[in-house]
Amino acid sequence: MVRAIVGANWGDEGKGKITDMLGEKSDIIVRFQGGSNAGHTIINDYGKFALHLLPSGVFYQHTTCVIGNGVALNIPYLQREIDDIVSKGVPKPHILVSDRAQILMPYHIDFDAYEEERLGGKAFGSTKSGIAPFYSDKYAKIGFQVSELFDEETLKEKVARVVAQKNILLEHMYHKPLINPDELLETLHSYRDVIEPYACDVSLFLNNAIKEGKTILLEGQLGTLKDPDFGIYPMVTSSSTLAAYGAIGAGIPPYEIKDIITVVKAYSSAVGAGEFVSEIFGDEADELRRRGGDGGEFGATTGRPRRMGWFDCVASRYGVRMQGATEVALTVLDVLGYLDEIPVCVGYEIDGEVTKDFPVTAKLKKAKPVYEKLPGWKEEIRGITEYEKLPENCRKYIEFIEKELGVPITMVSNGPGRHEIINRK
Ligand code: GDP
Repeated sequence: MVRAIVGANWGDEGKGKITDMLGEKSDIIVRFQGGSNAGHTIINDYGKFALHLLPSGVFYQHTTCVIGNGVALNIPYLQREIDDIVSKGVPKPHILVSDRAQILMPYHIDFDAYEEERLGGKAFGSTKSGIAPFYSDKYAKIGFQVSELFDEETLKEKVARVVAQKNILLEHMYHKPLINPDELLETLHSYRDVIEPYACDVSLFLNNAIKEGKTILLEGQLGTLKDPDFGIYPMVTSSSTLAAYGAIGAGIPPYEIKDIITVVKAYSSAVGAGEFVSEIFGDEADELRRRGGDGGEFGATTGRPRRMGWFDCVASRYGVRMQGATEVALTVLDVLGYLDEIPVCVGYEIDGEVTKDFPVTAKLKKAKPVYEKLPGWKEEIRGITEYEKLPENCRKYIEFIEKELGVPITMVSNGPGRHEIINRK
């Protein structure tokens, strides 16, 4: 059985916690897109961890953690993350890396920073993890596959060819130090030694596991609104954040993804620039940011303060639809307990007309939020484990959102801890 856990919003919906929770009952956990540019926060018996590249299953001995072909593989980063968790007492995890995954090269990180610098005030607010240059090269067919590390002749020839092209850009466009091909080749040899124990035909492994009836979890990063096709282009990430891409980024048949748990946050938050219709500012935002998440809404990768906003039914319904959600997990609901009234964005006003359908970016820029106010519950709901025990206004808030989304909310998360969850199934 293959199940995907993905985000409906701008990311940071709390997917890490849900993955960690469901990972306990899974045989295999797979990363299928993105790289080390976003993070999951996981709190468990070993402590608090911010994982960026490793799948969330690394804390369980019974799970195999897979990095699929769709991922931007930063090999030194992977090594560091493994060393870090092992040094904190976690038993060495079982890890497999697709031999078709492509390698995030040291120059991808440099080019990411150089381009942001060149753009100045018009920068994308990249995490400078090299993700955009990586995917550009992949589709320009000058990327390096893990398998190529084991073919010295081809590797040498390709390094020379690619470095020649990169150095033209470095010299004439960015005026930065050039890449030495011999040094790069040496770096790639060290990458080969690190990755050799993990590299394999992941697609074959997963297809066999499906036949054997294993439970497989596809772990998405970021959310629908950061998808390069369906998100707030161009303020998006460079690989698809949709569950459908899980089939490609892991190498499994699309029809095997039976369950798509889409994580929706009870209010909105975003890191980086881009359209965000229900964004709030000033004291109102500061208070929500301070109370939000687990100890405040600050990026897991960058530490940047997150932009805050009220729940957006238009964006979330679209987010859930594009994921093909079969069920929704509503998270961080406990945070809203301080409010007398909770505004919820139920429509966008664009050029004097109200729409409930999420539009393209050019129209989003003109959209003004239409709010409806729901009564608050003014109570601490952490520690509650049964749906019926939630305050009435809290249940009304959940049911209002469920109706707007059109997909059952099967889980309500009311705290950052693994067991702070209310099941509604
Ligand atoms: P992800 O990228 O979707 O995994 O999201 P993050 O893990 O970066 O952000 C979610 C933050 O909210 C983390 O700090 C979590 O510990 C925290 N969190 C998750 N679920 C809940 C919840 O139900 N209540 C509270 N208060 N915090 C939560």
